[in-house]
Amino acid sequence: MEPVIIVHGGAGSWDSHDDKLDQAVAVCQDAAQRGLVFLKAGGSALDAVEAAVRVLEDSPIFDAGRGSYLNSRGMIEMDALIVDGSSLDFGAIAAVQRIKNPISAARIIMTNSRHNFLVGSGAESFIEINGIPRCDVDDLVTEGQLKKYEDLRKQNANQAPENRSVISPIGDTVGAVALDILGNLAAATSTGGTNFKEPGRVGDSPLIGCGGYADNRIGAVSATGQGEALMKVVISKSVCDFMVQGYSTQEACDAAINLLNERVGGQGGLIAIDQNGAVGFAYNTMAMPYSIVSSDGNQVAGS
Ligand code: ASP
Repeated sequence: MEPVIIVHGGAGSWDSHDDKLDQAVAVCQDAAQRGLVFLKAGGSALDAVEAAVRVLEDSPIFDAGRGSYLNSRGMIEMDALIVDGSSLDFGAIAAVQRIKNPISAARIIMTNSRHNFLVGSGAESFIEINGIPRCDVDDLVTEGQLKKYEDLRKQNANQAPENRSVISPIGDTVGAVALDILGNLAAATSTGGTNFKEPGRVGDSPLIGCGGYADNRIGAVSATGQGEALMKVVISKSVCDFMVQGYSTQEACDAAINLLNERVGGQGGLIAIDQNGAVGFAYNTMAMPYSIVSSDGNQVAGS
C-alpha cells in the first residue's frame, strides 16, 4: 500500500488575516512531512497522525495545544480524539486545561486505560500518572489569544451568556488522517474549541464519528467547524457512510458538507482517505489550510 497523510489547520474565516493563512499552510506542510517520516519508515498510521498533530499543537498559530482560544472566563479547555481504523479503538479527552499535547493524552487513554474517553481533572491526573506532567497554563496561552479574549470580554460585558456575540468563533482546529504501508487507517483531531465558549462546553472534536472516524474497511476522516452543527449530522461517520454507498472519497466529503449545510445550516470542513488511499477534502468556510503528502513524493498544499 502507498502510504499517504493529509492534515488540516481548521475551517474558518481565515480571509481576515492572510499572512497567517500562508503561515498556517506552511506549518501544515511541516506537519504532514513529519507524519510521512513515520509512514516511510514502515511506522503505523496512528504514529503518523499523532506526530503530525503534535506539530500543529505546538504551533501558536492554531487553536489546539499552545494558541488555543480562551473561554468566556479566560481559561483554556482543550479536546482531542485519536482513532485506530484497524480495531475501531479510540481515545478521547475533553475540557483539559494543562496538557501540552492533548492528542498524545488521547492516545494514552486509548492504550493505557480501561476506558475510551476521560474529561477534566480526572483526565489530567490519569495522564500525569502515565508519565506526562501537567504543563503550566502559560505554556499554552499566547499573547494574541489573550488580546482577543480581552476584546471579547469588553464587548460582551453585561451580556447574558445567550446574548454574547463572537465574530469568527471557529477556525484553527487541527487534524490528520493517514494510511500506512500495511493498509491501516487512523484519524486524529485536536482543538481548543470555539472562541469565548462557555466553560465546560465540548464540541464535536473529541466525539467518535463527529470530530473523526477511521475504519480500515472504509476510510478515515477528520472534521472541523461549528461543533454544535457537526455533531448533529455525525459528520465524520457520515462521510464513511457515503463511501459505503459507493461515493468516491471526494464525493463523500462534498456530500457530507452539503448535508451539514442543508440539514442544520452548519459550516465546516473535512479531510478524508479511503481504504485504497484515495484522498478528498471539502469545506464551506472561507478557507481551510491543508497539506497532502504521499510516499511517492507528491505534495499538495493550499487553503
Ligand atoms: N469543531 C471545533 C469545535 O466546535 C472548532 C473548530 O473546528 O474550529 O470545538
